[in-house]
Amino acid sequence: MKIRLDRTVCDGFGVCAKHAPGYFSLDDWGYACLVGDGTVPDDDHDSVLRALLDCPVHAITEMGDRIPEAAHPFSSSAEDPAENVKTESNEAQWGFTR
Ligand code: SF4
Repeated sequence: MKIRLDRTVCDGFGVCAKHAPGYFSLDDWGYACLVGDGTVPDDDHDSVLRALLDCPVHAITEMGDRIPEAAHPFSSSAEDPAENVKTESNEAQWGFTR
């Protein structure tokens, strides 16, 4: 798991440092700082996830793994890129939001 902290969003509630003090510290004004590079080993996953979920302003996000180029639906390796274009005829495949 890899996390990211957006300090521009942090409101200084301090919940993250309470749940996962090894990954978040608070500065003199109570705003969070990420300790380390955001890499979270499996042993600490639960406490960091708790901090992520309890942050009232969603300043902490989990970084997703990159989708391999070949598996991406719009990759250049697809045989016909036009197959992935959203049209009314394939609306059921891509959703009902417009
Ligand atoms: S829980 Fe969220 S708002 Fe509170 S200090 Fe941590 S990052 Fe900032």
